[in-house]
Amino acid sequence: MKVLQEMEMTHKQNVKDYIDNLIKKVEKRNPNELEFHQAVKEVLDSLIPVLVKNPTYIKQAVLERMVEPERLITFRVPWVDDQGNVKVNRGFRVQFNSAIGPYKGGLRFHPSVNTSIIKFLGFEQILKNSLTGQPIGGGKGGSDFDPKGKSDLEIMRFCQSFMTELSKHIGPDIDVPAGDIGVGAREIGYMFGQYKKLRGAYEAGVLTGKGIGYGGSLGRKEATGYGTVYFVDEMLKDQGLSFNDSTVVVSGSGNVSIYAMEKAMQLGAKVVACSDSSGYIYDPNGIDLDTIKQLKEVENKRIYDYVKIHPEASFKVGCSGIWSIPCDIALPCATQNELDKEAAESLISNGVKAIGEGANMPSTQEAIDAFLENDILFAPAKAANAGGVAVSALEMAQNSARLAWTQEEVDSKLQDIMKDIYQKSINASKEYEAEGNLVIGANIAGFVKVADAMIEHGVI
Ligand code: NAP
Repeated sequence: MKVLQEMEMTHKQNVKDYIDNLIKKVEKRNPNELEFHQAVKEVLDSLIPVLVKNPTYIKQAVLERMVEPERLITFRVPWVDDQGNVKVNRGFRVQFNSAIGPYKGGLRFHPSVNTSIIKFLGFEQILKNSLTGQPIGGGKGGSDFDPKGKSDLEIMRFCQSFMTELSKHIGPDIDVPAGDIGVGAREIGYMFGQYKKLRGAYEAGVLTGKGIGYGGSLGRKEATGYGTVYFVDEMLKDQGLSFNDSTVVVSGSGNVSIYAMEKAMQLGAKVVACSDSSGYIYDPNGIDLDTIKQLKEVENKRIYDYVKIHPEASFKVGCSGIWSIPCDIALPCATQNELDKEAAESLISNGVKAIGEGANMPSTQEAIDAFLENDILFAPAKAANAGGVAVSALEMAQNSARLAWTQEEVDSKLQDIMKDIYQKSINASKEYEAEGNLVIGANIAGFVKVADAMIEHGVI
């Protein structure tokens, strides 16, 4: 008995050493890609239990293959501004893994975009897409172009130039981009128009997040925010809790944040704060979402304009202060690493009960550790924000069937998908002796499907 226990301990230690070495190799091979290192470390560490049970994954070098993108494309994006000046940005597309379907993942236009950001997002997308149960692989892309302050015509010229190159690498059965930070329906429209012109064919399934009039899906705009709240709701219900009568803080005021706020409010929560990259607003009466939608979706204004309309609310400069506002549920929905250890400790000391990640990798590893150590319910991004890409896959299905489902049909499918992701994640956490740890559960549940497909395809 003792010998067996010792062998088991040695085996576990060997797997741990293997993972530590692999993380070091990734860091060495991809110098200066800090966000990518962070994402890889979080995933690989959490996969140790599944590797201990299934050494085939090590023998087949599945992880070594998974951390290396199938393809990384970078390209020049020249365009002309309204004054006639020639500008040059850099375009990116990472086609990370196509084991279970065509590459799928959004495009981000933000000055901070670089190889590291695109690779971290693309890597996470592999497991997220697997969790949705839809046949989609992992990809991501974007540009360091800053859409802020640009005219509509400048945005159009940029999008056309970006798509002129990207069109050589994508297609409905190859790689299907969508939106992300800085890329909404307007940008998708301009890119779709250019793709159609270049191809000379109407391939609706090449992009998702399209306008409803030309192949978009009802419910896609709301999907990531609603999906995050549906997922958190499942997690709360499991503990006898709910959104009803809770106080909620949501960071950001973009696509994900707006619809996370809307669904949380529909479920009876009071949302008291939201933000943009300049600062945050606190409205003790509860945020007026119509004002936020008007400011952000229609007028392209800043969040401080809210207090001009609602003087009872206050505005504070800087983003991280939002986490010092007492709340029951915090939904970080803006960007990566926006919630650090200090912010986590502040939330915990103010009695937060649950965190739901609407953004990608919004919590630092130290923040996640603090939440888990303090038994705060924690819904990780890969699972919680998978509703957006899940409805994108439903958009692809409608495009290929030449059908358009109603908002109710899409929303009911989204709810089923989010419940299913929660169940898969919680079940995997139980199976691998980490009950309730959804970080481990979601990573393992997403990983196994992709890993098995990779093995079945042979070494390619
Ligand atoms: P969005 O509509 O462009 O909104 C982004 C929001 O975050 C804005 O309020 C923006 O403020 C704020 N923000 C951006 N960079 C920031 C920074 N460095 N510091 C503080 N605030 C910042 O983008 P989104 O589509 O909602 O995406 C938000 C997050 O959700 C991202 O992590 C994205 O990857 C993730 N996500 C999106 C989807 C989707 O379907 N859209 C799906 C899954 C995950 P400013 O306006 O001031 O820049």
